[in-house]
Amino acid sequence: MRKIACEEAFTIPEIAAELRKLSRFGGPAKDFVLINALYSEGITGYNAQFVPRLIDTDDMRLKQMDELGIDMHVLSLTTPGVQMFDADTATELAQLFNDRLAEVVARHPRRYAGLAAFAPQSPKRAAREIERAMTSLRLNGLLVNSHTNDEYYDQEKYYPIFEAAESLDAAIYLHPRAPMMGLDRPFDKYWMEAALWGYGVETSTHALRLIFCGLFDRFPKLKIVLGHMGEGLPFWLTRLDFMHDEAVITGNAPKLQLTPSEYFRRNFVITTSGQENHLALKYSLDMLGDDNVMWAIDYPYQPMESAVRFMEAAPISDLVKAKVFGETAARIFQIK
Ligand code: MN
Repeated sequence: MRKIACEEAFTIPEIAAELRKLSRFGGPAKDFVLINALYSEGITGYNAQFVPRLIDTDDMRLKQMDELGIDMHVLSLTTPGVQMFDADTATELAQLFNDRLAEVVARHPRRYAGLAAFAPQSPKRAAREIERAMTSLRLNGLLVNSHTNDEYYDQEKYYPIFEAAESLDAAIYLHPRAPMMGLDRPFDKYWMEAALWGYGVETSTHALRLIFCGLFDRFPKLKIVLGHMGEGLPFWLTRLDFMHDEAVITGNAPKLQLTPSEYFRRNFVITTSGQENHLALKYSLDMLGDDNVMWAIDYPYQPMESAVRFMEAAPISDLVKAKVFGETAARIFQIK
């Protein structure tokens, strides 16, 4: 069975350096908890563990993949990507990142695929970079870390990004970052702003905004990938359908062609990253279908080994397991 892990974090020294610069000034964004822990000077514990693993592709990562029989990592720029930089810096760094990512994939074409970064700060330039990444660089899709400058992409000014993605058959991984300003206050203690809980609230809310604005009536072939077992949304589909009817009748929500759950099944694919629970996996497969769930580790933030064991031991047929472990990822991300 081919094992393709879909949400595997990677960065380049230039972006790590720029985030280190940002950490010197700081700011209100809750992402600074992670950024300061990873990149600020003089900290040894957390950053000493993670930053080298984020940058490495040819040494520790590959060795561990070999030991565990992992065929491929689908690499993407670790959160918050280029999204906290000014538009020009972000656009340039996304290009540089995509060039480097394409080099890694070219060096190890059987072991790595790549999801391109882009800078939503400048949607038209982002659309051009998406085209370059998918055609000249032959990357496998896109990843963006939820909001940019406290905005979600249900506004028309972001539509050039979706137009480019749909026309190039490039799936967009909507990966978490900390909740935007306005959604941040309840997450200001207990490390709640990140993977513990805030990431899921931020990203599921963003995904719903994309559905409710009618994005998938405008771009019916667009594919959005959600990690962490769909950020909880598969559990909500029945209630979303019932309450969305109410929202259209009494809440001024736009009337849509399909129900929320129909969009979720047609336009979304989820991954298992960091949700290693067999009941959640079986439920998601039942709810969404065998072709809509992909395996992911979330390396280096989650260990590779338990993610492999979780899938190997999953109480599902070999036919379905082969899809989740790699076949669906190969289809969604155009991996040969
Ligand atoms: Mn991740």
